[in-house]
Amino acid sequence: MFANYNSPLQQLSDYDALRLWVKRDDLIDPYISGNKWRKLKYLIQKAIRLNKLHLVTFGGAYSNHLVATAAAAARSGFRATAFVRGEPVDNEMLLLCKLYGMKLIFTNREEYKNKAALFQSFFKDDPEAFFIDEGGASAEAVKGCAEILDELPPDIDHLFCAAGTGTTAAGLLKGIKQRKLKTQLHVVPVLRGGDFIANEIYHYTQDVEQLHLHTDYHFGGYAKTQPELLNFMKAFIAREGILIDPVYTAKMFYAIYDLAGKNYFHKEEKIVALHTGGLLGIFGKKEKLEEIL
Ligand SMILES: *Cc1c(COP(=O)(O)O)cnc(C)c1O
Repeated sequence: MFANYNSPLQQLSDYDALRLWVKRDDLIDPYISGNKWRKLKYLIQKAIRLNKLHLVTFGGAYSNHLVATAAAAARSGFRATAFVRGEPVDNEMLLLCKLYGMKLIFTNREEYKNKAALFQSFFKDDPEAFFIDEGGASAEAVKGCAEILDELPPDIDHLFCAAGTGTTAAGLLKGIKQRKLKTQLHVVPVLRGGDFIANEIYHYTQDVEQLHLHTDYHFGGYAKTQPELLNFMKAFIAREGILIDPVYTAKMFYAIYDLAGKNYFHKEEKIVALHTGGLLGIFGKKEKLEEIL
């Protein structure tokens, strides 16, 4: 399941004379999507090595990570349980999790904060249980994301990604450093106050000279949105024929075009945007999208 899959690199239309390519990790798998596939790859291998049979993880009710873990568990012969933050709810993503056989334990926000304690209290006597942090954050995830650089040309000037926890960004930066590339990494945090991402990245790689954080494209915060972002997303999808999601990738692409409009890039520079997938996030914003369509 985690055999090498070299996702395509696709050039976008020459809008604003921008030399922009998209690394289509969204095409790796519809449900083990984009960076979640990269992040789970070595975690699942570790679980297999340790003879674990039960993946236990954490996420919000609209978490791409939960769907990805549920699908990966089913396909690799694991059981799966997720602690889901907040009151019990139903939605498209949790429906998929349940179809893949994942057990959901809704957990109030206070208890959810201490993930190690939750894991202990439910699974301390289960030697088959394997802890996977929220979003898959781990050194294994960083290693999986660093491999993306092996699938990209070495002469990229600017590489962009969206960030939630910053684990994917840490992997990309590590991959750039390990390969001694000149590529600058641009990270677009989707949360308000995204400067914390720098600390998260620093945790995994200390050489941050080639790192650029663009913290002004959160549109109000995580899972928050604004008509301007949704209208951008609609125009992008119709123009390029590539779906993007409102939580992560729309904010990243918005940032790229906004920066281009401010002459941030030089004309000949090669820009690559990492499409981290997560398209089910569209369903989390369906009412807001209906309003602008
Ligand atoms: C989870 C997710 C991210 C965030 O990845 P981090 O490693 O947590 O920063 C980005 N894009 C998409 C589509 C995601 O689902």
